[in-house]
Amino acid sequence: MLSEIIAVGSELLTPYRQDTNSLFLTEQLNNLGVRVIFKTIVGDRRPHLVQAARQALERTDIVIVMGGLGPTEDDLTRESVASAIGVSIKRDTELLTTLYKRFAERRITMPENNAKQSDVIEGAEILLNAQGTAPGQWLDIVFGGHRKLLMLLPGPPAEMKAMFTNECLPRLRSILPERHIAYRVLKMALLPESQVDARLAPIYTRYKDVETTILAVTHPGEIQLHLLCAKPTQAVAQARVNELASKIEEEMDELIYSAQNETLEQIALYYLEMRGATLAVAESCTGGLLSQRLTSVSGSSRSFLGGAIVYSNALKTDFADVPEELIEEHGAVSAAVAEALANGIRRRTQATFGIGITGIAGPTGGSEEKPVGLVYIALSDGQRTDVVERRFTGDRERVRWWATQLALDMIRRKLM
Ligand code: ATP
Ligand code: MG
Repeated sequence: MLSEIIAVGSELLTPYRQDTNSLFLTEQLNNLGVRVIFKTIVGDRRPHLVQAARQALERTDIVIVMGGLGPTEDDLTRESVASAIGVSIKRDTELLTTLYKRFAERRITMPENNAKQSDVIEGAEILLNAQGTAPGQWLDIVFGGHRKLLMLLPGPPAEMKAMFTNECLPRLRSILPERHIAYRVLKMALLPESQVDARLAPIYTRYKDVETTILAVTHPGEIQLHLLCAKPTQAVAQARVNELASKIEEEMDELIYSAQNETLEQIALYYLEMRGATLAVAESCTGGLLSQRLTSVSGSSRSFLGGAIVYSNALKTDFADVPEELIEEHGAVSAAVAEALANGIRRRTQATFGIGITGIAGPTGGSEEKPVGLVYIALSDGQRTDVVERRFTGDRERVRWWATQLALDMIRRKLM
């Protein structure tokens, strides 16, 4: 079953307001096994609203229009939808009386404009608004020879959510075939989206009944794979999603760090704890970001000891025992210093593992020899120290995030 959501309101076409209602509705519809294939945002102009409603009815089976049910001149949803489906509007006297009563209860004279909110599209059922004055409308119609469900909901998020949950959900459940949803998220670090897609497309395209979405998420250096399947029973849906997930895990193998929606810091800590190991860090260019990420996980104190933010050369020596001569010889941003940081902080804290990070986050401070984005990360276990050199692109925040992402992934790979 396919659906379109239409968000009405000129304010949603400005930089100051965003349509967030459709996110809630999409989740709700997905849970019913309904797929949202279009979202439209329309300003408060009647011809545009009519056109949007028609188009939506032509290409989908379930259309939800929200906003523009208020009492003012620019609230045009009712009349526009009526004209899109070619029916008239009638003022509902019962609804009008209720409206008057509502105002009277609050000892306010109802403004004449509000009468408009008792206009009902011919053939529509009224949806009660427990939280506001604008009633919604439910239409079960034939349009272009096909059955269509059409809902008009108020714009204010609390009203929209309450009305959808209380009024629309039960109606939809009684009409739509029973559907159960299985959902899984697989996560990969430090891979480009295009590479992931190139390797996985041949696999997931064979599972047409599983909706697969590849997302490069808000933080750089992470790709998420969302798998969603709707079936008449939970067991069947889950089996399909699991089957595809295991095919994907087979292909990507250790590149997948989580198949259960954990964060990379959770995984790194999980491995440390499993081995009964501890970790300490000496951070220069990341300024504590790695420690922040690790300590954001509850229970991290079981394996994360702490560390030092060694931004100046003096503190690299004082807090992590990096020899002054080493810094002079190689420079603070070097493989040698990263290694010395990892070793030094490990010895100082008696941790099982030490991590050292040094780099140039930018945008200033780069040179030809040591450009912005150059980062060295070292991981020491007391026997050997692995050092990686990376040249990250992007702004300061991005470089710093990538560096911590790589550090966490080095721990994961070392202990896996
Ligand atoms: P009323 O005018 O009676 O409050 P309405 O149905 O006319 O109801 P709108 O005037 O369109 O609703 O919207 C009211 C407010 O609700 C907007 O100012 C906005 O803050 C919020 N809103 C409307 N549509 C959305 C949306 N799609 N996503 C998030 N917020 C929205
Ligand atoms: Mg509006």
